[in-house]
Amino acid sequence: MSTGRKGGRGQKTEDRENRALPLTTFPLPLSTTPLSLPFDPAEFSRLLLSWYGRAGRDLPWRQTSDPYRIWVSEIMLQQTTVAAVIPYYKRFLQRFPSVQSLASASLDDVITLWAGLGYYSRARNLHRTAGKIFAESGGAFPNSLDGLVALPGIGRSTAGAILAIAFDQPAPILDGNVRRVLVRLFAWMDDPRSSSAEKQLWAWAEALTSRERPHDYAQAIMDLGATVCTPRDPHCGICPVQRICLACDRGLVAKLPLPRKKAQVPVRRQAALIITKDQALMLRQRPAEGFLGGLWEFPSIDVPDGHGPDQVASRLLANLGLRGVPCRLCDIRHAYSHFKLELAVYMVDVESPELVAEGDGLLWFGGDELAALPVHGAHRKAYEKLGR
Ligand code: SF4
Repeated sequence: MSTGRKGGRGQKTEDRENRALPLTTFPLPLSTTPLSLPFDPAEFSRLLLSWYGRAGRDLPWRQTSDPYRIWVSEIMLQQTTVAAVIPYYKRFLQRFPSVQSLASASLDDVITLWAGLGYYSRARNLHRTAGKIFAESGGAFPNSLDGLVALPGIGRSTAGAILAIAFDQPAPILDGNVRRVLVRLFAWMDDPRSSSAEKQLWAWAEALTSRERPHDYAQAIMDLGATVCTPRDPHCGICPVQRICLACDRGLVAKLPLPRKKAQVPVRRQAALIITKDQALMLRQRPAEGFLGGLWEFPSIDVPDGHGPDQVASRLLANLGLRGVPCRLCDIRHAYSHFKLELAVYMVDVESPELVAEGDGLLWFGGDELAALPVHGAHRKAYEKLGR
């Protein structure tokens, strides 16, 4: 899509990239520190809010100012698309319509409802936070930045979204969508996740936040990032702030945000046993705290360097006090947030099932029961390979 303006995308830009910002000091609505901006923040708000009135999205969590519902939506939307969140949000609110109902639920129930949405620490933090809010204030949500960021799983941006959307307070937000908009709007030519970027982007986010209409502003800038200033092929031609956007003016839209320096992602190798007894399968639950806490999995073990998964799988079976011959079923690759997993999966029909004790958190499950169990990603894929 053409930017439709002088200096738009596709034009030669080398000399423009290093051009100094046309800095002007505008009176800022929030910040007490004078900050030079290349445009009037009031003009930015006016353009954005006018567009939002015409083109803002109608989303389930936009029909309420209940901080509980807004908090649930903001947590679900972290690292997850709107389309994926909507059915989970509806089911979650139907089952847990209030802080009290969530606080009094079991963690297992919450995790079960969350299964498939990923990043399970979010579900555990929701449960813990609901318990804390209910115990400390009978279910009344804090309405200050300090009160909100003191709660598990609520960072500065989520707190800002809750304050702006639920309490109509002029609090800045800096989620992924807003970050991208600001990087382009101000043509930030450095790693967008560096500590200097963090400081600068928060300062800009604060400077631009509308004091008059914070509730609408927060949703409008998130919508702009999600629907117009998209990660790839942003729609500059229909963007309400195109005429003040520096990336657009300098032909840098396709380059920004700059890619982050990639860290090497470690690879872990594991072997897992799908142990069968008649039609039942054996699984265990991970500890409630920690990585994938509370989720279920087949018995599994790390494969040390220099070892093959076959011998490790046989040793795991023996350690469980069982006899049988593990047969390789499949290999699964799965990416978690901080490592990649290569999982060798074995089937084994145990020889003396009557000797099998349900100890160490191991339990037998029938196929129907297992389908409803929150089994984490790689092991869910392994189960699907069984075709049951
Ligand atoms: Fe394009 Fe984004 Fe700038 Fe709008 S804010 S003109 S979509 S780069």
